[in-house]
Amino acid sequence: MTNEDGIGRPAMLRERLGSVGGHMTRRRAAVYRFLRGAWPHPTAEEIYLGVKEELPRISLATVYKNLEALVNCGLAVKVPAGDGAARYDLRTDHHYHSRCLQCGTMIDLEPAAEEILRNMVKAPSGFEVSHYRVEVLGCCEECGKR
Ligand SMILES: [Zn+2]
Ligand SMILES: [Zn+2]
Repeated sequence: MTNEDGIGRPAMLRERLGSVGGHMTRRRAAVYRFLRGAWPHPTAEEIYLGVKEELPRISLATVYKNLEALVNCGLAVKVPAGDGAARYDLRTDHHYHSRCLQCGTMIDLEPAAEEILRNMVKAPSGFEVSHYRVEVLGCCEECGKR
């Protein structure tokens, strides 16, 4: 699935932000545009460095604030990663990720194995499992070529 589902269109973004009391600023639009770019699951720092090229006076704190606003109105999610870095994703439906231990690149995985996991992982007695958080770790294709 790509982000070309309509939510990505600027008019729609303005509408979604408007409905939660947020507003569309040049900075927010730049942060959103970076998230839509080719870089999958960038960290806040990576977004900051990318957006800075366009808006040199933007601060990391402002980037964080705008990311928070996008998350609050459901346009993006914060991706929990094992390395503790805050990464962001425009894909908000339930899915897993693979993460390269060398370059940090994260790629989407479909949660196809969830049913198998449910049967394999034994939860403590009385513990009700609501969902799993799976991260597949290794070395990406690009890093493997080096
Ligand atoms: Zn890699
Ligand atoms: Zn993702």
